[in-house]
Amino acid sequence: MNAEIISVGSELLLGQIVNSNAAFISKELATIGVNVFYQTSVGDNKERLTDIVHQAFERSDLLIFTGGLGPTKDDLTKETIASIIGEKLIYDEPSLHFIEDYFRKRNKVMSENNKKQALVIEGSRVLPNHFGMAPGMLVTFGSKTIVLLPGPPKEMEPMCRHELLPLLSKVDDQTSINSRVLRFFGIGESQLETDIIDLIDLQTNPTIAPLAGDGEVTLRLTAKHSNKVEQLRLLDETEKQIQARVGQYFYGYGETTLFEQVFLQLEEKGCTISSAESFTGGLFSHQLSLFPGASTVFSGAIVSYSSELKRKVLGVSKETIDQFGVISHQCAKEMASCVRAQCGTSLGISFTGVAGPTQQENQPVGDIYIGIAGIGHEPISFKLSLPGNRKAITERAVKYGCFYLLNE
Ligand code: ATP
Ligand code: MG
Repeated sequence: MNAEIISVGSELLLGQIVNSNAAFISKELATIGVNVFYQTSVGDNKERLTDIVHQAFERSDLLIFTGGLGPTKDDLTKETIASIIGEKLIYDEPSLHFIEDYFRKRNKVMSENNKKQALVIEGSRVLPNHFGMAPGMLVTFGSKTIVLLPGPPKEMEPMCRHELLPLLSKVDDQTSINSRVLRFFGIGESQLETDIIDLIDLQTNPTIAPLAGDGEVTLRLTAKHSNKVEQLRLLDETEKQIQARVGQYFYGYGETTLFEQVFLQLEEKGCTISSAESFTGGLFSHQLSLFPGASTVFSGAIVSYSSELKRKVLGVSKETIDQFGVISHQCAKEMASCVRAQCGTSLGISFTGVAGPTQQENQPVGDIYIGIAGIGHEPISFKLSLPGNRKAITERAVKYGCFYLLNE
C-alpha cells in the first residue's frame, strides 16, 4: 500500500504555517511499514482540490487529507471528497450530541455552522475527535482508501495515532504490521549498512530500513504476521543478528535520545554527575537539565572556557596546563576529576577541544578530548577528530560524551 498525504489550507501555501501535519503522519505511517510516496499541499479551493484528488487516485492507494473539516466557509474538504466519490453527507449522531452538549453546558447558542462539523460522508467509518468537534473519517472508494483528519495538530495527532493507525496496521483481517526501531551512534550510515548489507538484502520479513540523521543511524525493522507472538519472534531474531554485528554502537529503542538513556541509566544506578565544559559552553548540562527531575542525577556544571578559569575555578594544575596544554588527554582527565570532586558527584565528565574556526595549541579544528572520572577506575579520556562547523562539532561532542557514559 502506498500513501499520499494531502494537506489542505491556503495558509500553508502562504507560508503562514509549517506543514507539521504531513511530517507527523509520514513518521507514523513508517512505524507500520506504509510508504508515503507523495506529500501534496493545496489551498482552500474546490477546483484545485478536486484536481489533486484525481491525480492522487492515479498514483496512490491511500489518500490522507488533513485540514478543512471545520465549520467555516473555507473548510470544504469533506464536501469536495463526498461529491467526487458520489456520496452524501449525513449527521453522525454521537458527534452531533457531543457538539450540542458542548454548547448547552456553556450556555451558548449552537449555530448551523457548528452543527456542520458533525457531518460525515455516508458509509464512512467515523474517527472520533477527543480534542475538538470535527470527527475524522475513513472511507473506501473502489480500491482506494480515503482518510480525512482535522487540521489542528492537537486534534489530528492523537486521532492519527490512536484511531487511524490501528485500522491501517491490519493488512487484512488477520495480518498485522509491527515495527521496532533500533538506534545507533558512533558509526556512519554507510559503514553500518556495509556491516549488515546481506541481512538488509535477504530479509523480507521483517524488512530492515536504515535512516541517518544528526550523526545517528536508525534501523527500522517491520514485521508482518497474523500471530503476535510469532511476529515478536521474527523481530527478536533479526535484532539478535544485527546486535551480533553492530551491537557495540546500539544505544536504545524507538524515539529515545542519548541524553535520555544517560539520564535513565544514572537514575537506575543511583549515580550523580557533574560536567566541566570548555568549548561545549554548557551544552551537556543544558541537555541533561531538560529532563523533569534532572536534579536526582545532575548536580551542575562548571563552564570554564578560559585557561585561567580552568585553573582558578575548576582547579586544574598549572603544571598540567603548562606541560600538556588545555587541549590534551591530561587536561580532560583532570577537568573531569576536579568537577567531580568540587560537586561531590559519583561521576564527572569534561569537554575540551578546538571547535573552530581556527586551530588552537597547534591542534586542528575538530580535535576534541572528553574526560570521564568514573567509579572504580582512574579517570579516562577519549580523543576524537570531528568534522563540521562549530555547532556540529559541539553537538556531536556532547553526544559522544553520552555514548561513553553509557559504558560506565
Ligand atoms: P478547524 O475546526 O480549527 O477549522 P480544520 O480541520 O478546518 O480545523 P483548518 O481550518 O484547515 O482545519 O486548520 C486549522 C488550523 O490547524 C490552522 O490554522 C493551523 O493552525 C492548523 N493546521 C492546519 N493544517 C496544518 C498542517 N498541515 N500542519 C500544521 N498545522 C496545521
Ligand atoms: Mg478550518
